[in-house]
This record gives sequence, structure tokens and C-alpha cells, in this order.
Amino acid sequence: MDPSLTLWKKTLDILKEDMDEADFAVLFSEVNEVYKVESNYIYLIVPNALTKFRIEKFYINRLNEILSTLTDSLVKFKFILEDDLHEADKPLITKKNSLYKRPLKAEYTFSNFETGESNRFAFISAMKVAESPESLYNPLYIFGDVGLGKTHLMMAIGHYILDNKIDTNVVYTSAQEFTEDYFLAISTKKGKENIQEFYHKYRDADVLLVDDIQFLEGKQSTQEEFFKVFEYLHGLNKQIVITSDRSANELKNMMARLKSRFNWGLSVDIKAPDKALRVKILKRKLSYLIENPKEVPHEVLDLIADIFTKNARDLEGGLRRYVTYCVSLNLPFTLENVYIALDSLIPEKEEKHLNVKNYENVKQEVSAYFKVSIADLESPSRKQQITYARQMAMFIIKELYGPPLKAIGELFGNRDHATVSHSCDKITNLLKTNPLVKGDYDLLMKKIK
Ligand code: ADP
Ligand code: MG
Repeated sequence: MDPSLTLWKKTLDILKEDMDEADFAVLFSEVNEVYKVESNYIYLIVPNALTKFRIEKFYINRLNEILSTLTDSLVKFKFILEDDLHEADKPLITKKNSLYKRPLKAEYTFSNFETGESNRFAFISAMKVAESPESLYNPLYIFGDVGLGKTHLMMAIGHYILDNKIDTNVVYTSAQEFTEDYFLAISTKKGKENIQEFYHKYRDADVLLVDDIQFLEGKQSTQEEFFKVFEYLHGLNKQIVITSDRSANELKNMMARLKSRFNWGLSVDIKAPDKALRVKILKRKLSYLIENPKEVPHEVLDLIADIFTKNARDLEGGLRRYVTYCVSLNLPFTLENVYIALDSLIPEKEEKHLNVKNYENVKQEVSAYFKVSIADLESPSRKQQITYARQMAMFIIKELYGPPLKAIGELFGNRDHATVSHSCDKITNLLKTNPLVKGDYDLLMKKIK
């Protein structure tokens, strides 16, 4: 088979997995002919305008995203109507960048970026810049704490521009890389040649993306050089995008000239995601991790979103750890496994907070089940039914969450360590010998989960 057709088939195989079968058949069953491959486009022939419209409206990004995971080259799909075959003959530019691999992470696109209160303005600004670089906001300065999506958004701008005008020279660099490049360029080994290469890399940019500019703090000579590059490109109306962990004004040991340039265009910040956004991000990331994201219950995502509240990166790290843990040990995607898999990652404060909620929940369930009030569970009362309920609640908390026995004692009217230990042993023994106790325990565990 023609290699481009093979790529198309492979792409479809992957797409098919997350599409409705009937939809898939309607849209793609008749798209199986490559017209030609030219200027980094694989042209596929579609039978009618509606199909073309639907594919381009809803699936083109996903298709090209999948394609980018299958090949290192820059190719993309394009669809062409049988009737319009001549359109494909219009010249499509192949210049500079099309020969190179994109320096951007494939999945950092706008379509993979979830939005909420905390990042909407930054997202919209980035979209605007991507749609009309060289005009509106120059530079676009995006700032915020680590792991909030700055690099993602910056690369999305690059992808978008390349998707729409493939010969644009999009240069992505970090301030660190820029510094290294500069020192290499002025090192004496190869002399002139080096600095030419440096100029070529940065001054030929149509769009310059510079990540983590705070790295230039205190580096005077690099700042000077960056200033020159900035002035040069800005003068040519080339789009510049900068990210930073803080606002331009808060940068220390940074030339005033540079700081003022950073404020010339538009400055936008990204804040910590709220709960709803955290859940959206988790869902998005989950779809890359496992074939069938529906296997992971919503409560699990909800819990992970409660654990990692500060940024998307920790959230993603937690999710990946959990999924890897469950998949590699062949365990079900349960809430308990979240605690087990993430034990060492759970920030202490959140863990406490979460556990407190969980302890309250156990108390409530036990109280309802045995028809004994929570106050009774916490009281000194030694009535048989109350004692039994209390012992069961202690045992369940220990089983599920394993806090220190002293902490369990505190939950039940400040009982001491020895009392809790005795209670737990008692239930352990009863579970082995008394089916009624076992029955209570099983029913309660079901409810609590
Ligand atoms: P930063 O550059 O601000 O430190 P990154 O852009 O590297 O953060 O983001 C960290 C991770 O979180 C990346 O995997 C990124 O895809 C993800 N992420 C951040 N924000 C979002 C979002 N709004 N939607 C989807 N993924 C996000
Ligand atoms: Mg970053």
C-alpha cells in the first residue's frame, strides 16, 4: 500500500476507537483514496461536500493530532472534493520550516486546552495572537505559577500558526536555551560562524516563542542580546510571545528597558484552576492514558481533583501514577486505590482534610446503620449496642484510612491508644468467628464505598 494511505488507515483505526460506529462509517467509509502528497499535505478524496464539511469541522484536528503521533514528518491531511480536484494544484508553499520537525509538543494544542475562570482570558488572548500574529498584541506576555499551562498555551499558538501557514518560521526556545545558544555563539572556537548561526536562528523568526523568561534574571549580557533580538523582530512586526513565572514588573535584576518592552503588548496571567477545571483537565489527560476512559469512575477523578489543587501538572502526575498503578498491577479503578497509589504524593494538609471528611462519613454511616447517634459514638457510654457500633467504626476507619490509633481515639471522645487497639482486635476476631458481625461489616463497607 502507498505509505500515505497506510498512514491514513492507521489514523482512522485510532480515531475509530473513540467514535460512534455508525457515524464513523457514514463519514469515513468512502474516504480511502489518496489523490496526491504535496507540500506536506496528504490529499484525500471525499465523495461529497457535506462529508467534507463535517470532517473539516469536527475531526480534522483530531486526525492531524493522531497523524503527528504516527510520523515524525510534518505532514497533515487535507480533504478535497472529487469535483474540485484542481484546487489541490494551487501552489502550496514549502519553505524553511516545513523541512524541519516541529519543535512543539504535539499534544499542546488549543483543542487540548481546557478552559475555566482562571485561564480563559489568557486562552482568548493566545487565540487572538495565533489568528493574527504580527498585529494585535506584541509581545504577548503570559505569566503564572508553575504547571498552570503557560508552555502549553504558548506552543498552541505555534501549532495554530503552522497549521494555517505552514511556511511560517516559528521558533520556540526557552530563556535557558537562548542563554546557552548565546554563550556558544560568542565562544571563540568557531568565531564568526557561530554568531551567524545564532542570528539566523533568532532573527529569521517570523514568530518567536520564549519560555520562562525569568531565567534571564541577573544575566546582564544575555539580556542585552535578547533586547537586540527583541527590538529587531518587533521592528519587523514579527510576533513575540513570552512566558514567565511572574509579571514583568516583578522580575528582579532585569534591565528596565526589557521590562518596559514586555509591557508594550498584552500581559495576561493564569491562576490556579478551580475544581471544575481540574476535573476537565483530568478527563482530558485520562483520554491519552487509557483506551477506555469510562472505566475510571467519576468519583475517582473527583477525588484526585480534591487532592491536587494547585496546578495542572501535579494533577496530571497524580492521575498518571494512579492509572499506572492500577493497570500494571491489574487492579480495579477504585477510590481506595487512589489513596494507596498516591499515598506519598498527597500533600499532608489535603490528606488530613480529606481524611477528616472520610472519617465523618464513616461515623455517619455507622450511626445510621446501627441507629445510634454520633454523639453516642463519641460519648463514654458502654451500652452494648453503642460500644459495638463504636468499635466497628474505629475498625473501619483503621482499615480504610490507616491513621495512627491515637488519631482514631481522638475521633471518639478522646479515647486512648490502648482502647482503640483493643477495639480493633476485638472486631478482627469477631469477623472470623461471628457471621452476624461479618454481615454488618460487609454491608457497612458497601455503603461507605
Ligand atoms: P507551565 O508551563 O505553566 O509550567 P505547562 O504548560 O507545562 O505548565 O503545563 C503542565 C501540564 O499541565 C501540561 O501537561 C499541560 O498540558 C497541562 N495543562 C495545563 N493547563 C491545562 C489546561 N487548561 N488544559 C489541559 N491541560 C493543561
Ligand atoms: Mg513551562
